[in-house]
Amino acid sequence: MLDTVINSMREMVGGCCVCSDERGWAENPLVYCDGHGCSVAVHQACYGIVQVPTGPWFCRKCESQERAARVVSEASTKPTQDMSFIISLIITSWC
Ligand SMILES: [Zn+2]
Ligand SMILES: [Zn+2]
Repeated sequence: MLDTVINSMREMVGGCCVCSDERGWAENPLVYCDGHGCSVAVHQACYGIVQVPTGPWFCRKCESQERAARVVSEASTKPTQDMSFIISLIITSWC
């Protein structure tokens, strides 16, 4: 399981994880995810980013992890069954 994650991360390093092109253009730049330990890079157009933020940008996986983290802290009093549902959401939303 962990090996699969590491391998898929390795494949994403060095280029757009949608079209695998390493080049970026002024009108279609490569955007790198600022998620912790995340090396996802995508073109603005490939990922459908409307506006490249001036601050940190997060891919959908990291964005959903951030959202899930918020949900977890809000739902910390709920039974652990909800946790496994959230974790399955994180896994299925992998880039
Ligand atoms: Zn691309
Ligand atoms: Zn990310």
